[in-house]
Amino acid sequence: MKVLVLGGAGYIGSHTVKALCEENIDVVVADNLVTGHIEAVDSRAKFYKGDIRDINFLDDLFSKEKIDAVIHFAAYSLVGESVTDPLKYYDNNLCGTKVLLESMVKNNVDKIVFSSTAATYGEPENIPILESDRTEPTNPYGETKLSMEKMFKWTANAHGLRFVSLRYFNACGADESGKIGEAHNPETHLIPIILQVPNGQREFVSIFGNDYPTKDGTCIRDYIHVTDLAQAHILAVKYLMNGGNSDIFNLGNGVGFSVREVIETARKVTGHPIPVKDVERRAGDPAQLIASSEKAKKVLGWKPEHDSLEEIIASAWNWHKNHPNGYTH
Ligand code: UDP
Repeated sequence: MKVLVLGGAGYIGSHTVKALCEENIDVVVADNLVTGHIEAVDSRAKFYKGDIRDINFLDDLFSKEKIDAVIHFAAYSLVGESVTDPLKYYDNNLCGTKVLLESMVKNNVDKIVFSSTAATYGEPENIPILESDRTEPTNPYGETKLSMEKMFKWTANAHGLRFVSLRYFNACGADESGKIGEAHNPETHLIPIILQVPNGQREFVSIFGNDYPTKDGTCIRDYIHVTDLAQAHILAVKYLMNGGNSDIFNLGNGVGFSVREVIETARKVTGHPIPVKDVERRAGDPAQLIASSEKAKKVLGWKPEHDSLEEIIASAWNWHKNHPNGYTH
């Protein structure tokens, strides 16, 4: 089996590439390296530099490589940036996916697994969140991901393609080797920001809002280890290879932690006091996001293996303390 990983030099992409290689699956990676890092790509994978908005690049790649299934991570993913620059998100996430689907249909590649997000739900109507719950994104990032899901659905109907959409909750942690991990610039995610304090790059963590209707007033999220996400992609590819129908799955641990609890756990893991400051709420943050992943467990046979917050933060710390500037030397 040969799998093409688009955006395989990014955070979740690079962990999935490594997991695929470890199962001796043939892996081809394509990435434009705008936000991805070539150093993150496993040396066992074959690498092509290119952009999914470039139909000639994709047609050429599909004619050179006999691809059985595609895993699609090639998208922008910063919520705040999507609000200030929505067209950048429509261009890459939606227009890019449209070109990709065109090329897949033309080249008879009919299976795709792709990154979606809890941001497709917006303000949740129930906790834990089910795949069948209302989807009303509160930012262009979530909106483009939801539109991508719909593009897949209608293209699948028309052209006999099958897809799996994986709606991640809060991806975090790093590979146990300590060689690959999260490296965004700018960094906006809570755990890497917290770890910048013991790394001497930041004096304190700003807590965005302390008056949410939660146990300690701070937002609650479902933190899921990137290695568990990587495994879900492999299971989803196998599901499609075995004839599974197009479907959508949540991926989370089903347990929520508040911002204060995450900081407290990071203090324990790093031995650093990590000072905090309570500041205003960040626009568009729902109070609570917790996944029901029962469907992924039942249909895909997925089981998160690294579900302790302490283990998640310890793996992230193992990466960040040795790579304070990510992949740049
Ligand atoms: N957060 C925070 N301070 C920060 C970064 C994040 O208090 O410097 C909070 C944020 O408001 C949210 C949670 O941490 O409630 C997780 O945020 P992140 O950006 O990591 O992921 P999101 O849930 O937005 O996808």
